[in-house]
Parts: sequence; structure tokens; C-alpha cells
Amino acid sequence: MIRRRIPLTAIISSSLIAGGLFMLDLPKSEETPQRLSLPLTHTASTPSVSVGSSAIAAIQPDPVSQPREELPPSYMRTLEVGRGDTLMKILLNAGINRGDAHTAIEALQSEFDPRRLRPGQKIHVTFQPGRHEDMPHTFEEMRLNTGFAKDVFVARQEEGEYQAGKETQELITSLHRAEGTIDSSLYLAASKAGLPASLLMEFIFAYSFDVDFQRDIQKGDSFQIMYEQISTKDGLHSKMGNILFASLSLSGDHMPIYRFKEKTGRIAYFNDKGQSAQKALMRTPINGARLSSGFGKRRHPILGYSKMHTGVDFAAPRGTPIYAAGDGVIDFAGRKGGYGKYIRIRHNSEYQTAYAHMRAYKKGMYKGKRVKQGQIIGYVGTTGRSTGPHLHYEIIRNGRKTNPLRVRMPSGKKLKGAELARFMDVKSQYDQQYASLAPVISVASAQ
Ligand SMILES: [Zn+2]
Repeated sequence: MIRRRIPLTAIISSSLIAGGLFMLDLPKSEETPQRLSLPLTHTASTPSVSVGSSAIAAIQPDPVSQPREELPPSYMRTLEVGRGDTLMKILLNAGINRGDAHTAIEALQSEFDPRRLRPGQKIHVTFQPGRHEDMPHTFEEMRLNTGFAKDVFVARQEEGEYQAGKETQELITSLHRAEGTIDSSLYLAASKAGLPASLLMEFIFAYSFDVDFQRDIQKGDSFQIMYEQISTKDGLHSKMGNILFASLSLSGDHMPIYRFKEKTGRIAYFNDKGQSAQKALMRTPINGARLSSGFGKRRHPILGYSKMHTGVDFAAPRGTPIYAAGDGVIDFAGRKGGYGKYIRIRHNSEYQTAYAHMRAYKKGMYKGKRVKQGQIIGYVGTTGRSTGPHLHYEIIRNGRKTNPLRVRMPSGKKLKGAELARFMDVKSQYDQQYASLAPVISVASAQ
């Protein structure tokens, strides 16, 4: 067996379990693993917002810890979970004796079920060599990552038993600004501005009630976005947070939106007047679909003659979930001629929406059932008169079928009174923060 020695980045004193600081010893080495078991705190506190900060906390050695001059430095090995591995097998393979492995696994179970280990997951194991070369190395600690900046560990105690614990790193939220002008596509402009793809999707979704991104975007249109990035204090892990503010300017028409938590706890985007960016109905009640046929007169692909197409078609793989476009009550669920499996929802006295060619209804979707916007009602199929899996979607206004991509959407919620005042405070705070940030410049050149 190959024992690769890796200098330990932190010598962990026994005060760790008591929640104290670790004593440090930082030998710099090429082999130092990309991980420090350092400034961990034991609380999952809400992240503090610090604009543009990347400071790393200075680490003070714990004066209480006992020096370990007599012992050679401990070292860490990183083990990877293979297919079909059990934790016991992994620890035995690492040279840990069966008794210690068993006790450590038993202790770990109070914090983490070892059956949840996935292939590829890393386990960091720390050993303490004895005073003399021929002495066995003691299994001191085992640590694994269970989520963003979250670790579970077991550590050996004085008496040779193991105790488990959990640690969550303190997180820092920083704000970033991305802006750009669209030359050819929104996607290119966004990537040039350094906007991560996941946030571009969030941005598009936030505007999807008002903007048809396939048709409304023109050269010269522009966008501005302020978003969060959440990092661990040591800077080793980071992930994208939320878009707090965005503005889309279409043909000189500015459309700012702000993220706001309502008193009910619901989080949504509102425009600068406190009007919900989310409308009563969705134009596209399906994710990741391609518009395959628009509204209007067309040559019918099956019947072969020109016929009015009374909705829009979204091509999507069979089984793709279909959402209720708005809150309402199902007033029809069943087979309906060429529409195949069909659901119609009544939203108010003025609007209904209809969904056709479904493969299946979601369980419990029957006439009279109340549904919420975004709730799954069924799945894409090709039942009825249809040439392939797609959703045929109709918006019916006062009994007339209208073009879902063109209809002026009934508006959503408007904030009022004290809540509107609170929103205005948040809005001006975000405006000021945005103004104070420098835009992110992308280093990657867009080809
Ligand atoms: Zn259709």
C-alpha cells in the first residue's frame, strides 16, 4: 500500500470538541491539499453582507493548546469513495485497525448516515505518528463534506474513543455588478459581462412575464444586474446567490426590478413602483421548451390545409412537466377530440388557459381542483391530433382564443402602505449599492 505523506495544514488540538480555536502549524508545501480545516465556526449564522470584501480572517494560535514538540507532525490523507465501497472498507484499506474504524463509524452515525456516501466523495483522514518510527500511527480524525461549507467529523479523544461533530463555515456575501449592451444575443452579451449562466436563467425567468426573449430583444438593448456571491471565509468555496436588482432596457424603455421579501415571507421581484414583475399568467407554462409553432393561420401539418392555429406550440421531450399558468380552478380535465388529453383552468371571470396533447395528468387534477401558479398539472405527450411530443397552450380571454405571446397580461400584486414604504427603502439601498460597485469585466473572450 502506498502511503503518501501530506503535511497537515492544521494540528487539531483536543479543544476542538469543546468548540475552541485550533492550534495552527502551516507548513507550505506543493502537496498541501486544497482544503484547510481552519476558521470554522460552529454556528450557521446568516451571512453578513460585505460589499466587495475578500478579507480572510487572521488566524491566531490558541495559547491554551499544549505544544507537541515530542511528537512528529500529524498528516492527512484524502480517501475517495469508490463504487460499492462501505465506510468500513475504506477505513480498513487506509490501514486503520478494525476496532478504531468500528468505534469511529459508530460515533459518526449520530451526525451522518454512512450509507449516504456517494462514489467520488472525499474523506479526509488524519493520522498521528508515534514518537518512534516503528510505532503505529494513530487514527486521529475523519472529516467529510456534507453540503456547501458543511462538514461532519469524528475526532479521537483522550481515552481513545471518538466523538462526532458538525461544522459550518462562516459565509461572506459579496455583491457584484454586471452590465452590457446586446450586439448579437443576450447570451453573448451576458457572458461577456461575466454573468454566470445560472444567473442569466434567473434573470430571464424574472422578466419572462413581460418579455418574449425570442422576439423582443434587439441590437442596442441593454441590461444591468446586481447579484450576490456567497463564499466561505477562507475563500475556497463559493456559489452564486440571488439577483437583487436588475434592469432591462428595451428600445430605450427601462424596466428595473428588485428582489423583495413580502411580509408573508414570499420572495418576489417588483418594479420601481412596487408592482409585481410576476404576472397573473405565464406566457410559457413549461421550462426549457422551444417554440415550435406560433399563433395564427398556418398549413396544418396533419390535415394538410390552411387552418387557424389557436394557441402556441412548445416542443419538449415526452414527460416534461406542464405548469398551471396562473392561480385558478380546473374547469375541464379529460379527452377532448383532436386536443387529446386536455386541461382547462379558469383564472377569473375574464381569463382561462388550456393545455393539450398531454401524455398524462398529474395525480389529483380533476374538474373543480384549485391550482396555484407554477404547480405541475400534467406532462408533455402527443395524444390527439399531434405529430410529436409538444404542449399546445391557449389563453382564452372572454371566451376568445388570443395569442399567448402577444396578449397584455393581467398584472400581478401591487405593494401598498407600510409594505410599499419598506420596499422603497430596499430599492434605494440597492440603487446606491449598485452605483457604488465597479462592473465585472470578463477575461474570457467571446468567440
Ligand atoms: Zn398547437
